Amino acid sequence: MNMIDVAKKIKVHNFSAGPGILPEEVLQQAAEACINFDNMNLSLLEISHRSKNFEKVMDEARALVLEHFEVSADDYDVIYLGGGASLQFAMVPYNFLKTKAGYINTGVWASKAIKEAQKLGEVKIVASSEDKKFGYIPKNYEVPTDLDYLHITSNNTIYGTQYKSFPKVNVPLICDMSSDIFSRKVDAKNFSLIYAGAQKNMGPAGATMVMIRKDFVEKGKDKLLTMLDYKTHIKNGSMFNTPPVFPVYVVMLTLRWLKKIGGVSAIEKINEEKANLLYNEIDRNSMFEGTVFAKEDRSNMNVCFRLRNETLEPEFDKLWKEANISGLRGHRDVGGYRASLYNALPIESVKVLVDVMQEFERKFA
Ligand SMILES: *Cc1c(COP(=O)(O)O)cnc(C)c1O
Repeated sequence: MNMIDVAKKIKVHNFSAGPGILPEEVLQQAAEACINFDNMNLSLLEISHRSKNFEKVMDEARALVLEHFEVSADDYDVIYLGGGASLQFAMVPYNFLKTKAGYINTGVWASKAIKEAQKLGEVKIVASSEDKKFGYIPKNYEVPTDLDYLHITSNNTIYGTQYKSFPKVNVPLICDMSSDIFSRKVDAKNFSLIYAGAQKNMGPAGATMVMIRKDFVEKGKDKLLTMLDYKTHIKNGSMFNTPPVFPVYVVMLTLRWLKKIGGVSAIEKINEEKANLLYNEIDRNSMFEGTVFAKEDRSNMNVCFRLRNETLEPEFDKLWKEANISGLRGHRDVGGYRASLYNALPIESVKVLVDVMQEFERKFA
């Protein structure tokens, strides 16, 4: 039996928030590359990152990011780094915070980014939704024009909120897109820097993608520690030191898969369909309620909800576990439930969850 047949037989509906679900065919190809990569009769795990075979992988993984974002290699560079999105919380201010940086606080990850920046310079919290437990995206705030940059978090993985439009600003805009990158069309040209840990929506843990405008990187500080200086990695084509070889390969496969199924605009439609299906059921079903009170800000990636009667949690848990659903528990800070509908999650899995919710209502309402 090949790996795809094995995966099909297992049929677990994987709603994990991260690391998240990957396409079956990507897992199959990744498994093969561990044994025999590129017909070399060697594993991808045991060859030089300087080999022609891997250089091709790195080049394609970088080019596919530009292609999916519809930007040019004349304007942007793409690199892959270790350290997760969390290292970017530090690298961004370390490279670009000279006098004052602005941050919008929309949740745990945004707060962590703010904390790092505060260690390195002056931070202005331009807007925050902390007053209402991060249940909305701030709107109608003024962005000072004297900032080195404004940092935002496009999708708040833990609370389930998402920017539906981005602030129009006259300062460089930097975005943590870890949990919704390539899930929908964005106008990437409005951003000076976009970063994303791969493990939510574009690959496995271990690689973080950073895309930076060339004219912005030139404004970075001088005399930085070599490994923490974006210029080092850009100058060396993301090969200054040994890059996360295997994660970069799986990212490349995932971005190829996305291209094959029609690209970002095609997946955006499917993601909307999946999210609508689930939100409609949450709103209709008498047993559940959504936890994001600002409906217009509800995330299409991480759908957060809870039982109106939380004492019934063991009964609901039993039902969804019997249906081979996995990874539905909410973040430990929020509780309740969170269904992550990343690109690779088939709509059939959402239908199974909706069926379970309806069965729960029939039995316990
Ligand atoms: C998961 C997540 C992070 C943290 O990513 P690491 O790669 O674990 O450091 C940062 N930002 C967002 C939006 C996330 O969802």
